[in-house]
Parts: sequence; C-alpha cells; structure tokens
Amino acid sequence: MLSILTRNLPEKLTDWDVIVVGSGIGGLVTATQLAAKGAQVLVLERYLIPGGSAGYFERAGYHFDVGASMIFGFGTQGTTNLLTRALAAVGQTLETFPDLVQVHYHLPAGRSIRVHRDYETFLSELATQFPDSAAGLRQFYDECWQVFRCLNSMELLSLEEPRYLLRVFAQRPGSCLGLVKYLPQNVGDVARRYIRDPEVLSFIDLECYIWSVVPALQTPMINAGMVFSDRHYGGINYPKGGVGQIAAKLVAGLESHGGQIRYRSRVTRILTEAGRAVGVQLATGEVFRARRIVSNATRWDTFGDLLPEIPPREVRWRRRYQLSPSFLSLHLGVAAEVLPPDTDCHHVLLEDWAEMETPEATLFVSIPTLLDPSLAPAGRHIVHAFTPSWLADWQGLSPQDYAAEKQAAAGRIIARLDRLWPGLAEAIDHQEVGTPRTHRRFLGRRDGTYGPIPRYRLPGLLTMPFNRTAVPGLYCVGDSTFPGQGLNAVAFSGFACAHRIAVDLGYR
Ligand SMILES: Cc1cc2nc3c(=O)[nH]c(=O)nc-3n(C[C@H](O)[C@H](O)[C@H](O)COP(=O)(O)OP(=O)(O)OC[C@H]3O[C@@H](n4cnc5c(N)ncnc54)[C@H](O)[C@@H]3O)c2cc1C
Repeated sequence: MLSILTRNLPEKLTDWDVIVVGSGIGGLVTATQLAAKGAQVLVLERYLIPGGSAGYFERAGYHFDVGASMIFGFGTQGTTNLLTRALAAVGQTLETFPDLVQVHYHLPAGRSIRVHRDYETFLSELATQFPDSAAGLRQFYDECWQVFRCLNSMELLSLEEPRYLLRVFAQRPGSCLGLVKYLPQNVGDVARRYIRDPEVLSFIDLECYIWSVVPALQTPMINAGMVFSDRHYGGINYPKGGVGQIAAKLVAGLESHGGQIRYRSRVTRILTEAGRAVGVQLATGEVFRARRIVSNATRWDTFGDLLPEIPPREVRWRRRYQLSPSFLSLHLGVAAEVLPPDTDCHHVLLEDWAEMETPEATLFVSIPTLLDPSLAPAGRHIVHAFTPSWLADWQGLSPQDYAAEKQAAAGRIIARLDRLWPGLAEAIDHQEVGTPRTHRRFLGRRDGTYGPIPRYRLPGLLTMPFNRTAVPGLYCVGDSTFPGQGLNAVAFSGFACAHRIAVDLGYR
C-alpha cells in the first residue's frame, strides 16, 4: 500500500514544485491536475490510505465507506461531471452503478417521497404529495435548472484567475451573467417566491439540509442548482468496489504522471520564510520544501495549527462561518432478507419537522450493497446510518461511559431502522459505532466537523473563499473553500486550485 517508505528518502525527493497536505478528494484532484500538466507533486497524508472522508475500512468481510456514498460528478456529458473528468485527466476510469432513486424520504405524518432520477417522475410524485403546491414546486426546481445550465455550459476553473474569467465571459456571456445573479442568493428566498405552504417549505429545508446541514435560507443557490439538477442529469452513481476506489484511482493516476504520495506522514507545520510558505515539517521532524504548498486540511486546522498565526482575512471568515456538527455513524452488517426487494439505496428519516437540526433527529441511511453486492459477504447487506452529532456531547466521558453512550446511541438508531425494516435489529451480525471523536481522529478534521456552515444568513456563496490565502505561496483546497462540501464540490475546488497554481507557476 505504501508508495514510498517513510524514512531514508534521498535528498533530491525533497525538492518539489507543489506539496499537497492531505489526500482528500480536493487534495488529490489538485495533485493530479498539476501532475498532468507536468508539475512535480508530492502528497503527504497522515493516514494509511487516501480519500479522507471518502475513504473506507474493512471488517469481518464488509467493506464500509467512511462517509460519502451518494456520489455526484460521474456523469458523461456537460462540464459538471468533475469526478469523471478528474480521473480522465490522468488516464483513469471508474465503473459505476447508476442509482435510480437519489434518496427515499420517510417524513413526518407517514409521508414517503422518492427523488427519482427522472425529473418528471419526481415532480409528479411531489404533486401527488403536495397538490396545492405542485405548480410552485415545478417553478422552484425549474429555476434551479437555470443555475445548473449556466454551470454546465462552461469550463469550471479558478474564479480568481482574470484571464480565465475574460475567456469564459467571451465564450458564454449569458451563463456568466446568470451565475453572477445567483451567486449572492440563497435557496430559501427563491423557494418563497413560488411556495407558501409551511410543510412544503420544510421539505425544501430538508432537501438542502441533507447535504448543506443548514436550512434553505442559509443554503447557497449555486450549490442547490448543482445538486437539485445534476441528480436528474449526470445522476447519482456508485463506484464499483466502493467509494474508496475514487481516491485509489486518483492516486494511481498521480503516480503514473510522476507524482508521489507518502502515507503516515502527518504535517505538523507549514514553514514560512519572509512571510511566504516554502515547505512543511512532518511529525517525524522531516522537512520538505516546494515552490507552492496546498493544504487540504480544513481552514481551522490550517490556520492556528499548521500555521501558528491566523491572518485577519481568516479571522473575518470565522466570524461568518462556523464548524458544522460531526456525525454519529453506525456501520451494520445485516442479513439480506431483512430488506424488501424494492428497497432504495439512500434514505432519510425524520419524524418531526421542527427537530430537523437537532442532533440525532435527521437520520441518513445508505445501503451500498444494493448496488454493489461485492462489498459484503454473500447473503448480507451493509446498512450505514449516520446522524448529526456534536463533539462536545462526547467529551469528558470515562472510557466505560463513552462505550455505554455509544451503545445507547446505536440502540436508538437501530430502533428507528427496525420500525422501517421490521426484523433488522435481530438480523445484525456486525456493528461498528463511530462518534465525532472517531471522525476527528481518523479524518483529521477539527472537532470531526462535516465542514463550514454560515453563522447567519450570508449572501449565498459570495463570502466563501477561493484557493489563494493571505500567506503567499499557500493555497487551501477542499470543503472549506468555494464551493463547499461534497465530493463533486471539492473536486471543483481541486480543479480551481490546480488552475490557479499552474498559472502562478507558468504552466499552461
Ligand atoms: C458521514 C459523511 C457522509 C457524507 N456523505 C456524502 C455524500 O453522500 N456525498 C458527497 O458528495 N459527500 C458526502 N460527504 C462529504 C464529503 O465526504 C466531503 O465533503 C469531502 O470528502 C471532503 O473532502 P476534502 O478534500 O475537503 O478533504 P477530507 O476528506 O477532509 O480529506 C483531507 C485529508 O487530509 C488529511 N490531513 C489532514 N490534516 C493533515 C496533516 N496535518 N498532515 C497530513 N494529512 C492531513 C486527512 O487525513 C484526509 O485524508 C459526507 C461526509 C461525511 C463525514
């Protein structure tokens, strides 16, 4: 697994064009894009495998995804299929299984709504559930398509590179003006132009919350345009062999283009000279120098931790954005027969609209073995259930109390799953519980956070930072840069970061 041993590196290997700290999908897309342009790239990853929140672990014959499993970006047309494009740039492809229902909602008062891949089927299901709002719902989702069409008609690169902006404006003036219009808008404001019914607005809140972890009034319209349309365009597609395959293939592409990755290499310091980032130091004391440094750690981990000082620009950012909660994750192996044959892959359970943001209220469920049975032993399924949870609620516990709390929380989740799929509780043969402490430890993310969320209603995505930072030579990539969380979003961030660095280093 390890590409290079962690010791006794020859001196010449310490001289790089670009060092990327972290091998999340944002970091790997940056690295592969730059390697494809001929840059000498080194990725330093603290963990044993690549992928970060898109990683995996194996237990008792089960191959569990750590987090992400509802994957956008594997479409075959347009420009927003960024995972397909990132892999292709380094000569890689990945077989995927199409998921014909993005998510099956199990809602208060027994409502059940499925988001079908086919847009009209989805709208007609909504019209059956909310007949008085049918016209407004269509108008709202149609407006999301306007955002998507703008995005999907242009090459998605660095918005902080003036020549690219001029070029893309000359090629697609209408699309650019459309995006400028939507950049400061939030979903809730747009939805309220067409929809009055409070329950339907709650549904739109949940549609946003399941990926932005904030309600619609705080969710940027640009992100919603992507998510609410691409699920019907490129679709949701699950990688054969598990989500970890995305990172594995990107690493293979990186290495085939001369780049290198070192695992078990925790960066403890970004080194500066005369205020400029020039290298990194590992926990082992080793030092590597490069012309440009990219941090795929969160902004909270980058500034104040890897760099002791927090620049004023970052202080201002922290006044606007805060850490989202982490997750309580339950990874189960269950007997296959407990799930009815027509079960969908992704589910969201919520019993009370008013509780949507309360820890443990909104429950996400993924059953990837419905699409790829090879991830579990024969006759078994994986059920991954996760729900927002704060680190603070898991701190200060004795080891016994921590274990007891984990077991109690798992029991509460299993009871809800068992109501949906009677007999599930008895059909479990393997169980792993991850808390925010687990996410912090294994993903290296401050407080195990899912990512940044607005502290209050911000003007859409207008205040989300791009890749350059206040420190010359240092760039950030990943979910605490524009446009935010999600694998396709951090891939966008990776394309943009690599583009900006390539221009700065004089690559074409
Ligand atoms: C439970 C859960 C479910 C999710 N579901 C979905 C989903 O269905 N669909 C979707 O699109 N997205 C989903 N997401 C979100 C998505 O996984 C993330 O937004 C995305 O993977 C973040 O990528 P990233 O590039 O920002 O970095 P990360 O994934 O955070 O990776 C950063 C990497 O940097 C490494 N690192 C950090 N600090 C250091 C250091 N000092 N030295 C060396 N290495 C370091 C880490 O070990 C890690 O490998 C989910 C996330 C979670 C947690």
